[in-house]
Amino acid sequence: MDRETMLQEAAEFIQERDDFLLLTHVQPDGDAYGSTLGMAHLLQTLGKRYTIANEDPVVDKFRFLPMSEKFQLSSEITRSFSHVIALDCGDIRRLGESAALLADEAEILNIDHHKTNDLFGRANLVDLEAAATSQIVFTLAKHLELDLNIGGAICLYTGILTDTGGFRYSNTTVEVHQIVAGLLDVGINPFEISDRVLESLTWNQVQLIREALGSLQRDESGKVAWLSVSRPLLNRLGASDEDAEGLVSYARNVQGVEVGILFREKEDGSIKVSLRSKYRVDVGEIALSFGGGGHARAAGCTMPGPAEQVQLQVLTKVREAIVS
Ligand code: AMP
Ligand code: MN
Ligand code: MN
Repeated sequence: MDRETMLQEAAEFIQERDDFLLLTHVQPDGDAYGSTLGMAHLLQTLGKRYTIANEDPVVDKFRFLPMSEKFQLSSEITRSFSHVIALDCGDIRRLGESAALLADEAEILNIDHHKTNDLFGRANLVDLEAAATSQIVFTLAKHLELDLNIGGAICLYTGILTDTGGFRYSNTTVEVHQIVAGLLDVGINPFEISDRVLESLTWNQVQLIREALGSLQRDESGKVAWLSVSRPLLNRLGASDEDAEGLVSYARNVQGVEVGILFREKEDGSIKVSLRSKYRVDVGEIALSFGGGGHARAAGCTMPGPAEQVQLQVLTKVREAIVS
């Protein structure tokens, strides 16, 4: 389906309904928060009612986002919803526990940019070319002929900024810059946002970088590098799962490396695998084959431990992809 048709279907989905539940993926990143709150600003402008839920509380770093206080814990919501907007989720499993809030016949509008998106919505606004789901929400606002207020612009800018790695990743296109120019026009302060979301590290994060770099290894070819973060390490430092965000780039950024990997032990002993590639390897396909998903250059999956076995499985698959 072409973009205009998808935009029109999404616009009608919103215009013809009210009382929406806005959901994004578990352990939200900047684009998850930004696109969800950007959509909340649009619904507010349209005079529609909405509820925002996630299984996790909003992390400190993103509490500056206007209306972030509207996020509710899904475990504390006692009703169900018939109209759902899912943002930045490639498949329904990414909703985690929040999926329990869907009524039996719930209609879903799926707004996303993941290569592995399985079109789980009643309406699907899925654009694999978009750098961020926040970019798609901007395009939808234009399609609805809505003016963005400053709050909405801050949220969408944050999503685009984080998913493009500060306009450095290969998903940074002419259109991204054009949209961002439109967001700056609304009057946001881009320095303040990048300072908060890209340039600030908590003390725990720096301690974790120091320790995690001790685990950095690469294979004989020099094309694959990886880091491991164990639960005892996180516990010792008092670091959270979010503190490990961004570590994978140390593996990917090593000269000559095509695929960088982070293996992080979760509380339940399962292993979260983050994959990043530079030019060639489709890590989205690799993550998908292990039950996860993502994009061609950034993807992830969660696998049952033990860590050594997960490392072996993932490294074997990655090496196969590199030689093929
Ligand atoms: P991460 O490594 O968690 O930063 O994720 C990189 C990309 O892969 C993001 O776009 C995520 O949405 C996606 N991703 C990460 N983990 C999963 C998963 N378990 N299932 C599907 N997609 C994932
Ligand atoms: Mn995301
Ligand atoms: Mn995204």
